[in-house]
Amino acid sequence: MPKHERSPRRPGSPQVMTTADVEALRVNPALLRGRRGAPPRGVTDTDRFWSYIDVTPYCWEWAGLRDRDGYGESQYAGRKRKAHRVAWELLIGPIATGADIDHLCRNKRCVNPDHLEPVTKAENNRRARATRTHCPRGHERTPENIYTRKDTGATMCYRCVLERGRARNAST
Ligand SMILES: [Zn+2]
Ligand SMILES: [Zn+2]
Repeated sequence: MPKHERSPRRPGSPQVMTTADVEALRVNPALLRGRRGAPPRGVTDTDRFWSYIDVTPYCWEWAGLRDRDGYGESQYAGRKRKAHRVAWELLIGPIATGADIDHLCRNKRCVNPDHLEPVTKAENNRRARATRTHCPRGHERTPENIYTRKDTGATMCYRCVLERGRARNAST
């Protein structure tokens, strides 16, 4: 399988996950605060991870710390890891060695796997250059097709959103 293609999806994969499903994964952050910052017994890294997600109508935004590049930064399995990569591994599966995870929504805080795609570093760089005039999937960035979110400044491509919706309907 070429690196730029998605891994096979598991049952219950994010393509069929709704905002409500993600809300259900969330753990009350107040429950996670043990004494002196140590999490209470029985709280797993995964519980902790999902408690940091703010579900918006489009993106699932990491509400915890961010690294200096603006990506969500999680503490997972004893080390700092980019939150969107952890989300991909939890919901889809392992990331091929050397692969970057590209944000199709261009919102670096987003961990929604529907908005993420594993690509080679070369492809990721190529897209970063090309996105000035086209979205990552090659749709032209026109004022009619591109929507800028007021809260995050992230831009989204309407045609991509439409196509993903159609692909989802076709596969179910
Ligand atoms: Zn997103
Ligand atoms: Zn597009």
